[in-house]
Amino acid sequence: MDFQHLKDTANFLFASMMDAMVDLGVSPDLMFAGMARSFEGECRELLARDGLDLTKLEDAANMEELVQHWADALEKNKLAAHVEIHRVDDEEIDVEMGGCVFSEACKINKQHHEGDIPLCPWIGVLYALVEEKYGKHLHLNTADHHVEKDHHFFNLHVTDW
Ligand SMILES: [Zn+2]
Repeated sequence: MDFQHLKDTANFLFASMMDAMVDLGVSPDLMFAGMARSFEGECRELLARDGLDLTKLEDAANMEELVQHWADALEKNKLAAHVEIHRVDDEEIDVEMGGCVFSEACKINKQHHEGDIPLCPWIGVLYALVEEKYGKHLHLNTADHHVEKDHHFFNLHVTDW
């Protein structure tokens, strides 16, 4: 199986899982929180092995630096073509991601449930990093996936609960 075939299969399977979760009534916010918990285990080691520099993330001086390292890691490892950070402070994180490797899954989900939150796993990773480093939690404010632009948009609240 070549890379493109593997990527298409992974996107299709990921889309099916997301659909099933949505049909079961699990909220996207809860799904990201769940992804964050698994990132603290084996998933974290897997990502580190694939080149995500966890030391850099642990050494981040503030939330802005943490989000920047996360964005750099995604771009460097070609998990997303580009990540634009529009706002980061103690209350809010606003990011836009273009060319995510899981764009196809988000596109499939959008065809099945128009208006759904794109369940980008890298946002689950961001939930985990913020939780681990600051003991704070992220919650979805708004999110969208623009199929034509191949971009995800995420506006997240930073909270203590
Ligand atoms: Zn994504």
